[in-house]
Parts: sequence; structure tokens; C-alpha cells
Amino acid sequence: MEERKKTAREIIEGYQGPPVRIMEVCGTHTHEIFRLGIRRLLPSQVELISGPGCPVCVTPVGFIDEAVYLALEKQVTICTFGDLVRVPGTKKSLADARAEGARIRIVYSPADAEKYAKEHPKEQVVFLSVGFETTTPAGCLSVKKAGEDGLSNYSLLVANKTMPQAYQALKGSADVFLYPGHVNAITGTALCEHLAEEGISGVVAGFTAKELLTALAVALVRFQEGKPFFVNGYPRVVKSEGSPEAQKLIDELMEPCDSEWRGLGVIPGSGLVLRKEWEAFDARKKYAVPPIQGRPNPACRCGDVLQGKCRPSDCKVFGKVCTPQHPVGACMVSNEGACSAYFMYGNGCPL
Ligand code: SF4
Repeated sequence: MEERKKTAREIIEGYQGPPVRIMEVCGTHTHEIFRLGIRRLLPSQVELISGPGCPVCVTPVGFIDEAVYLALEKQVTICTFGDLVRVPGTKKSLADARAEGARIRIVYSPADAEKYAKEHPKEQVVFLSVGFETTTPAGCLSVKKAGEDGLSNYSLLVANKTMPQAYQALKGSADVFLYPGHVNAITGTALCEHLAEEGISGVVAGFTAKELLTALAVALVRFQEGKPFFVNGYPRVVKSEGSPEAQKLIDELMEPCDSEWRGLGVIPGSGLVLRKEWEAFDARKKYAVPPIQGRPNPACRCGDVLQGKCRPSDCKVFGKVCTPQHPVGACMVSNEGACSAYFMYGNGCPL
């Protein structure tokens, strides 16, 4: 009789291979793995560490300072996703600025911000454009729409980033990357295949329980073979070529630039900036924002958390001074942040 194949869960629970560190690059993976209780299945030699895939978390303090400057000094209306409002800047958060009278609006998409600008022609509206390849196309579309609508009161404060350079910067911090499936849906898989040739192993993972268990099981099976590997574990969404339409749109409006990441410093070529043809929609240029060097709270170890150098619970203020109600750093604010995941699901205890 043919032997029954093991389930992904059985492979994970029964893993007896060498110690392995797997980095969940994506903050949503971190939260879903916690929420689904997958961590409780892992044998002691399998360590999951968080990575830099939370857009709000990797956005540096100086970006918050720039937004506060625009809101208070230039009296623009800031449109932003909700998470960014409570991220501490060097001296103030956007919530603090709002308490001082600044106009801060929470929106659910850049299209909402563009629409608001169109409906309020007397206000100058700036959308805080953060995130990776997944969110950048929507910001680009809003700029194109603003151009078509002839708006002169809409612009983006851009801090969009691209993942490939971050993977290079994180080389050596984990044995296997759990790649964010939604990013690969845009970029395709060529880069990850190339990284495997350079010795960096990884599996593209989806977001359901089945997809996450499968990706982890594949990572453990392949890791034991002792050779670098790449597996697309999310083939129903991720194609090798990615999304040529989204890539073309980004390329039409934006070009690469050096970019500062919280904790990782400046990574050459890892950011995006609006091309010269679109600079009328670039808030930094439009309002001549001066260079601002942000200073994070010295007690905060977000930088180390984002590089997998420590767990949130290793931070001295975790769960004491720093809580979701009173966040000290971005990783405790964001719905995708590792510190908020540990706080919500780990109950303050390292798992
Ligand atoms: S627990 Fe708070 S202070 Fe510590 S690293 Fe996380 S966000 Fe920063």
C-alpha cells in the first residue's frame, strides 16, 4: 500500500533537522503566523524572526518630521493611512500636530486623497506615500489622475521603497527568507531566483493558514538538503513575470533613489522618487522642505527588531513604557509591526 504523504503541519512539527532561522520579511506574515497559532507548532530548533516588511515600521523618523513640518509650517492638509498618525517623530507625531490645529485626514487610498483635493480646491493636500511595490502603483495612479483633473493642490510626500536591495542588505541575517507574496505578485520571481544563485534561500508565501504552513514546510524540507533554494509557494497569485502593467506604471512615474530605512540606514537605490516630468506633484520640491535629520527615541530597538537582531520582547521598554496605546516606536504602532504582534498575541512573553 502506498505510504500516506505527510501534511505540512506534520512536517513542521516533526522537523529534526539542524537549527534554522526563518525571517518573515512581511509584517502581515508575522501577524498571521501569530494569529493562526503556527508558532506553537514549531520545534525549538526552528526560529522565526521578523524582518523589515512593514511599510510604516521602516519609514524613518525624519519622514514623520517632514510631514509634521508640512502640516504645521506650510498648513497643508495631510492625507495618510491611519497607522502613520501615531508614529512618534523626533519631537511630535502627526497626532500631536493635529492637537495643535493641523489638518490630518485619514484616508484608505491615494485615490481618496486625490478626490479630497479635487473637492477642496482651496486646500493644499499632501498624501503620505509609503510602502513597497504593492502600494506604489496606487500612488502613481493618483498622480496621473491629478494630472488629468488639472489639480495644482495635490502632491505626494514620497518614501516608497523597493525590496530587492533590502534583501541584499539583510544577507546573512536569516537562513531562509519567507518572501512577501503580494510584493512578488508585482515584481515577479527573477530576483529571488537570482538571490538563490547567490546563496540566499527563500520561499514565496501566501497569507492563508494553508499557504503559510505549506511555505514553512517547504522551507524546512529544502533547508535540510543543504543547498540554496528558491520556491514559489504562492503560484495562484505570483507569476514569474510579476505584473508588467504595475511595473510599467511605476517606471513611468518614478525612478530609483537612495533611501533611508529605519534600522537599516541608507540603502543605495532602494527608494523611489517622482521623475522630473512629475515633480509638480512632489511635495518636497513644491514646498521646499528642508533636509530634516530625524532622531528616534534612544530606548527604542525597532532598528534591531527590523533586522532580526533581537525580538521585541528583548527591548527593555516593551510592554511597560511601550504599548499599543502609548507606542514609543513604529513597530508598536503599526498593524503589521512585530512589536504589536508580540504584544497582541505573545501577551508580553517571548514565544
Ligand atoms: S517595544 Fe517599542 S520601543 Fe521597543 S523596539 Fe518595539 S516599538 Fe521600539
